[in-house]
Amino acid sequence: MQVFFATQFVLSLPAGHRFPMAKYQLLRDALAAHVPEVRLEQALPASDGELALAHTPAYIRAIAQGTVAPQVLREIGFPWSEAMAERARRSVGATVSACRVALKEGVAANIAGGTHHAQADRGGGFCVFNDAAVAARLMQAEAGRARRSPLRVAVVDLDVHQGNGTASIFRSDDSVFTFSMHGQKNFPFRKEPGDLDIDLPDGCGDEDYLVALDRGLEELEARFTPQLLIYLAGADPHEGDRLGRLKLTWDGLEARDRRVFEWAWQRRLPLAFAMAGGYGHRIEDTVRAQLNTFRVAVQYWRRWQNLAR
Ligand SMILES: [Zn+2]
Repeated sequence: MQVFFATQFVLSLPAGHRFPMAKYQLLRDALAAHVPEVRLEQALPASDGELALAHTPAYIRAIAQGTVAPQVLREIGFPWSEAMAERARRSVGATVSACRVALKEGVAANIAGGTHHAQADRGGGFCVFNDAAVAARLMQAEAGRARRSPLRVAVVDLDVHQGNGTASIFRSDDSVFTFSMHGQKNFPFRKEPGDLDIDLPDGCGDEDYLVALDRGLEELEARFTPQLLIYLAGADPHEGDRLGRLKLTWDGLEARDRRVFEWAWQRRLPLAFAMAGGYGHRIEDTVRAQLNTFRVAVQYWRRWQNLAR
């Protein structure tokens, strides 16, 4: 199973910064050690033209040149540097590549990404560019002009925070369905309405979570027929997360992943996934949650490969 990374571009953050940058390298090491089916590949950066499918030229330029307004930079939460700009581009490139491969092989992944708080003209919440939005639009462009209607893409966002950026980018675009399930009282405090939003109360546990997810997937099914699914498999609904405020156990998280992969598999729907958030009290817990997602993914990737034979 092909997995794209941009971990060689590590941001050096000020001491005590809340973002666990080390998790990407740890996950990469864990995948290499424990999931032999994974083929790790370096991502190419997204170009200005590709980023412009979801972002304004002025914002792309400001990130490239380091002229972003201080307030926007504060909302992003990372200091600007050339490495920061390059990393953001590569992270989008990794999701783009994962989507391209998923359309051929059924399942593929980005080891980072899921930067769903980025809107067209500004970033926020540790997100610079919106990888899922750029990738969805680029896959539509690549699917070709021969089609009568654009490739239909569903974004299933199970990070604990609402995918406000993705919702706002696709607000008036019927070809991309945005489904976000998130903590009602969590960041972002002003939610952007997507196609389907499910708010969860603080402390929500496995059972209520999975019932809500089933309901969400049923509604998605009733309202939209996707041809590509982009899954944001945030680790932050886990009970050991500093920021999540939900109470999912390891089993609950695994059942969540399995629901999404099974739903896509039943429909023979190509699925690309990205990591999104994870802020475990113990960084090993975040890595473990994400590694578990890959273990489930590989099982479904195998089914696709058997199908191809
Ligand atoms: Zn999150």
